[in-house]
Amino acid sequence: MKQETNTKAVPPEAEQLRVLLVEDSELDAELVMHELARHDLVFTTKRVWREPDLVMALADFAPNVILSDYSMPSMNGLRSLQIAHELASDVPFIFVSGTIGEERAIEALKNGATDYVLKTNLGRLGPAVQRAIREAVDREARQSLEVARQQLATILEATPDFVCICDVNMMMKYVNAGGQEVLELPVLPKGGLRAEEYLPPTTREMLMQTAIPHVMKFGTWRGETELMNARGQFIPVSLVLIAHPNPDGSIEFLSTIARDVRDRKEYESQIRYLANYDALTGLPNRSLLQDRTAQAIRHSQRSGNPLALLVIDLDRFTLINESFGQAVGDQVLREAAARIQKLARDEDTVARLSADSFVILVVDVERADDALILANEITDAIGMPMVFDDRELQVSATAGVTLFPRDGEDMETLLRNANSALHRAKHQRHGGAQFYNSEMTDEAVNRIEAEANVRSALRRNELVLYYQPQFEAGSRRITGVEALLRWMHPGRGIVAPAQLIPIAEEIGLMPTIGDWVLQAACAQAVAWDKQGYEPIRMSVNVSVSQLHTGNLVERVKWILKSTGLPASRLELEITESGLMDNVAESAKVLKELKALGLFIAIDDFGTGYSSLSYLSRLPIDRLKIDQSFIARMIVDKNDREIVQAVLSLARVLELDVIAEGVETAEQLEFLVANGCPQAQGYLVSRPLSQEKMNAFLVMRKDLSGE
Ligand code: C2E
Ligand code: MG
Ligand code: MG
Repeated sequence: MKQETNTKAVPPEAEQLRVLLVEDSELDAELVMHELARHDLVFTTKRVWREPDLVMALADFAPNVILSDYSMPSMNGLRSLQIAHELASDVPFIFVSGTIGEERAIEALKNGATDYVLKTNLGRLGPAVQRAIREAVDREARQSLEVARQQLATILEATPDFVCICDVNMMMKYVNAGGQEVLELPVLPKGGLRAEEYLPPTTREMLMQTAIPHVMKFGTWRGETELMNARGQFIPVSLVLIAHPNPDGSIEFLSTIARDVRDRKEYESQIRYLANYDALTGLPNRSLLQDRTAQAIRHSQRSGNPLALLVIDLDRFTLINESFGQAVGDQVLREAAARIQKLARDEDTVARLSADSFVILVVDVERADDALILANEITDAIGMPMVFDDRELQVSATAGVTLFPRDGEDMETLLRNANSALHRAKHQRHGGAQFYNSEMTDEAVNRIEAEANVRSALRRNELVLYYQPQFEAGSRRITGVEALLRWMHPGRGIVAPAQLIPIAEEIGLMPTIGDWVLQAACAQAVAWDKQGYEPIRMSVNVSVSQLHTGNLVERVKWILKSTGLPASRLELEITESGLMDNVAESAKVLKELKALGLFIAIDDFGTGYSSLSYLSRLPIDRLKIDQSFIARMIVDKNDREIVQAVLSLARVLELDVIAEGVETAEQLEFLVANGCPQAQGYLVSRPLSQEKMNAFLVMRKDLSGE
């Protein structure tokens, strides 16, 4: 019968040594005990000599040492050893025998006996037992250490965390299975792997600067950082670094435990996302909008550029939800969000504020009107049919617009005011969008309409040129014409340039319009030549914005070439005030124009405060005395004197002069009397359409008798 024993080889210090004697001779047993006692061993004994008793004693008595005779009538010594070995392998087993010979003794040792003592030499017994016990104690200590080590190794290998041991040269000498997986490491070569190859540069720097100095001083360092796996991906980890010192205090090696926190990081970023974004549309929510608005307000205060807050509200959204179901309602919201985002610029923030209300934070608003235009574009875009599952839906939206700083100092105020503009818009249906300041809306709407009209004027060929004759003051002989812009508005009839040019300037369209004027005027001059009229000079007004486009000289050159008009037949008129806005730059362009061989006149002269020194330096051919002086000179002495002064100035500077706005014979007489060579005005002719100008030229031809 096999029996488990709880035999423990090592007696706790306070306990007696339990000696099991396998001995048939009581006398020999006495001798053995005597010997043990002689060596100050404190012990109890139990004596057995038959197999079943031995088996039982191993279990019950749990000996610390077994002393066995070799040859007994009842049981062979080797059998006793075999049983002890099976049931209590850790317990030292010593043969005490008179008959064991050298050969058998060696065999016994081979079979697991600890020692043998000859009965003839019992003096050795005490030391042999002591040694056997000592060795057993050591063995057990080693075994339990090994067990503990094994257990730790099992735990280390089982944990998913990264565990690594590095030598002082930062070579990874051990990495557990979890660590190998996290870093996707190859099998660790014999010399280890260089730790720095698995650290992003920032981590490397942080370890050198912070963690390792800290560990040297305090033994451990904890923190969050990143490792890098074999594929170069960064792995966020929470990490503990431990220094293991030598007895002399120097560092023997370092160990690291790191936990892969990718999941947590992702979770955290998800939480952050949920805290800042709307789950349905993916747009920023009120909280993020608040941050961005506060930031934008600070930016606006520094830069001085206003910002706008647009609130967009879907009309009757609850009705959509109720009649088509929430799933369709969600689709509508997502589609509206997408359409809004498509129209907003990257630097603007589109947010969803509540069920069916969106907000757009527009930064660096150049013109307030732009915010209203964007709001209208958005409501128009939302108003385009939406198709879901073959079902077409028509949604409409309304917008309210506020501007910082004029309509509010903080987001709450701006939002409240934008909402009140929105509610007004809902009641008035004023094109879907309203400013908080309602007058502003009216003005903006007019302006926006006007701008759209001006743009289409050019596109629809509604611009035409009128021509007004210029003549010799004395003889009234025609010397040239001035081309004047007119807009043939389909609804409003003929629109004067004063209603067109300022808007065109504002929206940057004037250079394009001016280019068209130049082209058309030059082409007309050549056409009259071809019809056989006496060649006359063509005067064309040029705006300052045209002067500064950078390519005016090239354009004029090209137009002259393409129409075939000689440069000497073209005069460009530039207003005095425009010229004085940027003298240096204008002078440069004028010189280049002049070099082409054309004439340059200063228009509206007398109103722009030009200084004499400028005048003498600019390449000018002619001054056009502003019509306001001509209109008043008969009745007003001041104006009369101004006209006389301009005339004598022109004589001194050797410039040609023309008086504008001559309406009466009296005015013309005065001008002739004061030596003014040229004039232009209603007295001879109003500006004429091309057909009427044709007729005028025919009449002149007839008059001159050709
Ligand atoms: P401006 O160049 O001084 O042109 C003379 C203006 O005086 C014209 O007005 C003309 O119709 C008007 N006028 C001529 N004779 C008389 C008169 O006896 N009595 C009165 N009361 N007025 C007279 P318009 O055509 O309305 O043009 C106004 C201004 O618009 C022009 O003043 C010019 O500065 C600008 N403009 C016209 N066409 C163009 C153009 O093609 N390009 C540019 N840049 N400006 C243009
Ligand atoms: Mg003019
Ligand atoms: Mg003028």
